[in-house]
Amino acid sequence: MVQSAASPMQKTFHASMLLALVTALVACDRPTNDPRPPPVTSSTTPAIDPQPANPLLAEWEGPYGGVPAFDRMVLSSLEAAAAEAMRLHLAELETIAGDARPPTFDNTIVAMERSGMALDRFHAYYGIWSSNLSTPEFREIQTRLAPRFSEYSSKITQNERLFARIKEVHESDALKELRPDQQRLVRLRYDRFARQGAMLAGEAKARYAEIQMELAELYTRFGNNVLADEEGYVLFLKEDQLGGLPESFKATAARAAASRDHKGEFAVTNTRSSVDPFLTYADDRGLREKVWRTYYSRGDNGDEHDNNAIIARILQLRAERVALLGYANYAQWRLEDRMAKTPERAMELLMTVWPAAVARVKEEVRDMQKLADKGTKRSQRFKIAAWDYRYYADKVRLAKYDLDSDEVKQYLQLDKLREAMFMVAGELFGFEFTPLAADAGVPVFHGDVRVWEVKERSSGKVIGLWYLDPFARPGKRSGAWANSYRGHTTIDGETLVLASNNSNFMKGAPGEAVLVSWDDATTFFHEFGHALHSLASNVDYPTLNGGVRDYTEFQSQLLERWLFTDKVIERYLVHHRTGAPMPAALVAKIERAATFNQGFATAEYLASALMDLYLHTTDPTAIDVDAFERETLTKMGTPPEIVMRHRTPQFGHIFSGEGYSAGYYGYMWADVLTADAAEAFAESSGGFYDKEIAKALVSHLFAPRNSVAPVEAYRAFRGRDADVSALLRDRGFPLPR
Ligand SMILES: [Zn+2]
Repeated sequence: MVQSAASPMQKTFHASMLLALVTALVACDRPTNDPRPPPVTSSTTPAIDPQPANPLLAEWEGPYGGVPAFDRMVLSSLEAAAAEAMRLHLAELETIAGDARPPTFDNTIVAMERSGMALDRFHAYYGIWSSNLSTPEFREIQTRLAPRFSEYSSKITQNERLFARIKEVHESDALKELRPDQQRLVRLRYDRFARQGAMLAGEAKARYAEIQMELAELYTRFGNNVLADEEGYVLFLKEDQLGGLPESFKATAARAAASRDHKGEFAVTNTRSSVDPFLTYADDRGLREKVWRTYYSRGDNGDEHDNNAIIARILQLRAERVALLGYANYAQWRLEDRMAKTPERAMELLMTVWPAAVARVKEEVRDMQKLADKGTKRSQRFKIAAWDYRYYADKVRLAKYDLDSDEVKQYLQLDKLREAMFMVAGELFGFEFTPLAADAGVPVFHGDVRVWEVKERSSGKVIGLWYLDPFARPGKRSGAWANSYRGHTTIDGETLVLASNNSNFMKGAPGEAVLVSWDDATTFFHEFGHALHSLASNVDYPTLNGGVRDYTEFQSQLLERWLFTDKVIERYLVHHRTGAPMPAALVAKIERAATFNQGFATAEYLASALMDLYLHTTDPTAIDVDAFERETLTKMGTPPEIVMRHRTPQFGHIFSGEGYSAGYYGYMWADVLTADAAEAFAESSGGFYDKEIAKALVSHLFAPRNSVAPVEAYRAFRGRDADVSALLRDRGFPLPR
């Protein structure tokens, strides 16, 4: 859970996904498809647009059904490409809307599935610039484009003739004759329009579009402010200030300082990958506080990058927008098409777990306080504060479980972990990964990126490619995420999936193994779960690749469980120097410590998840964001030693777009499914490699993506709904009586 909350994003795009286009940070909607624009007047032969002149819109060439030309990305083409791609897509939709024939599934719904091809290609590049290769120059373009994307989106949902056709198909008797996945596709298309205000008219309609436009700009500004505060603060330290910090951290910090013209010093950057280890190991309490304050003040410094006013405005606009559609609050609108269905049900789940988490935090703090007091003169004693939590938790971990994170790290090599993931993918999915040769004709956007071919082992059939961009660098956003450049579809012949994983591991010294923390190893498996979810897809229509927010993290969270299976431990968790497998005693220690610090991990997550729901169910008319956060935390009884994992002014999941807005609870929702599904494996005769359960897992919970309602898919897998007590057991919390 911690790991997944740290690295929550799966990003897949499709042209017609409205706000997905302007939310660079969070989006989990749908991948690309292969449309051909239909003719202007009705006929059966599609007219093919001439090849667009802009290189970012050009058809993908080369092997594997064509691959993105990442080696020919030119930023100066970006803005013109965006305009042209939107124009093309709108023209395609206009053609569908103006079709003289009566609307049918094929000439309306499937035709829409085929539209927006150039924009999909554009978006593969745009996503790279926004997440992997960002520059101030790009961010300027992004800010200029945001309102234009929004305008384009509004034009689609406000296309009355188009919506009328969808509505007619949706209400037709012919619908009942279609396959279940086709019926679901029609419903999803219809709902998307209805939920985006397609039914509005007159002034309300105009106002809706205005709101969308303003929101799009605010989302971009919000994200850029956080990024600016991550890049704008670097703490340079001298060697004698690094007490307690492991060599690996020092080496990374030295390189980070050198690259910023501070050779001989050590840089603590204002990102999670730098801050978390610093807070875990640095002995200097004053420096810990300084680093902690800087990090948790991102977007909250009262300067030109302050996000508080932006947040208030976002909340007000969201409330106004859903009021136009007749909803009482934003969360009600947001959750309607989620598994949870209502904010009340989501809140109920969170509040089932919150008291147990808070009680556990109090126990954890007691343990830490004892340890901190021991051997400290009475006059110099202090109360454990938020910036002490990671540090003393690690000390307690050592004392109570004799578990040293740095010792564990010696067995976690990036390359071996990747091999372990491939083994798991082979065992569960029957996939085989083969590295591509340098001359395979598959371009990459940076020298660090590597690509593998993915085959179905039994048939030898190629399924797609897996791109991996593992290392941190300036201009790459923090965290880890998965992204598809192209999703699975069969509407114009079967496509090969182009999936990617992106992380921010610290590059080791040349020739040295890259060692990662247990959390990072878990995250690596997590993101790979997203990639496998894309690669396993068997859906026919692009829209059905889309995700349901409180469900899409389930597949990836489940994958995390294989990191600590015997097969992985024995063969892949081997010491980076000796090659010896992790000793049984260390394995036992990790097992014993599995529920250690779950109070902290659960509470920091829940504080954010609850805040998200409170923010989106409260009347925001006169909201003072700063005060609201403070007062709500107090009302919730949040322990003072806990800080929200993402404080409101830096909560990109919910404010740099709408991907997770009123939806951050979804991680826990998905984690209930995860814990419950993991028990299905654990209880089976074959354990985590049980062939039959693996088969059911892939066929019911991975391959159908969104072609089956998640609730039904889960019942088909488990024979019943998921049970929250599995999650409580998993975290070592007592079951409520
Ligand atoms: Zn995820």
